[in-house]
Amino acid sequence: AATLDTKTLETAVEGAYQAYRHLEDGEPAQYIPALATADPDRFAIVLMTVDGKVITRGDSDVAFPIMSAAKPFTAALVMQQRGAQALVDELGVEPTGDPFNALTGIIRTRHEPLNPLVNAGAITAVSMIRVEEPRQRWPLLLDYLSRFAGEPLQLQDAVYQSVSTSNYRNRALVNLLQQEDWLEAEADTTLDIYNRQSCVAVTAQQLAVMGATLANAGVNPVTREPVLAPELVMQVLALMTLNGFYDESGWWAFTAGLPAKSGVGGGIVAVAPGELAIATYSPRLSPAGNSMRGMLAIQAISRELGLSLFNPG
Ligand code: GLN
Repeated sequence: AATLDTKTLETAVEGAYQAYRHLEDGEPAQYIPALATADPDRFAIVLMTVDGKVITRGDSDVAFPIMSAAKPFTAALVMQQRGAQALVDELGVEPTGDPFNALTGIIRTRHEPLNPLVNAGAITAVSMIRVEEPRQRWPLLLDYLSRFAGEPLQLQDAVYQSVSTSNYRNRALVNLLQQEDWLEAEADTTLDIYNRQSCVAVTAQQLAVMGATLANAGVNPVTREPVLAPELVMQVLALMTLNGFYDESGWWAFTAGLPAKSGVGGGIVAVAPGELAIATYSPRLSPAGNSMRGMLAIQAISRELGLSLFNPG
């Protein structure tokens, strides 16, 4: 697919945008008050190649909370600091096949593996970030996410307030994680940093740069900064391939065949390794919490361009 020219990419993006811009299936996340009121008709597709070519359609500069689309990048930070084996040993990399907020892995007293792309594992991953002082953990994480985006990212305050004052399911998860000895940092501050991570504001444009950094072997194609070691990029992409869409991950692999991660804010970032990234934004979600228009648009682009990892050529 290295031969894809700009015209072919533009046609694929335009085709997907037109095909799904009026789709009204799904609804914005209801369990976080500030997300329930998101404009359901927003829609953006941004495709960025590893050499920095960008094709955008729709609301590509509207900011939305990154939510779970941050999780692969936090896992990347943990691996960058401690090596991939630490993630395998201390957390786990097995797909759960369960909803994002499931208690799988911690409900029993015997540890079952988690993975860093479901909430329980993502909260644990936040506690595994190495810092000298606990108060350095959030600035370090925000800076790392910003290096993927190639510009300083910020918290979306209204959403952060809303998440912090609801979020009952994650409070239960962090308490169980603490009880079962998963956490390497204090429970309440770990949950607070996880909440902040979820409420980082991104545009589809910025999310595409984050994905394109993974597609480009860990080097940000805009700033040229090496953000993640190439051997760890492969492992982040493996995690995304197996668990990026929770209990919809199998269908996703079947239809798109690309490592990708969704967030309940309506974002998706998908990666065609060595080629390009696609970010979408549309707040209408499937029952599993994945953006409907986003999934269908990326599936269509992947099909059209033959991007699936499993494409035998
Ligand atoms: N912050 C959200 C939560 O923990 C993220 C979930 C998601 O995007 N699937 O509930």
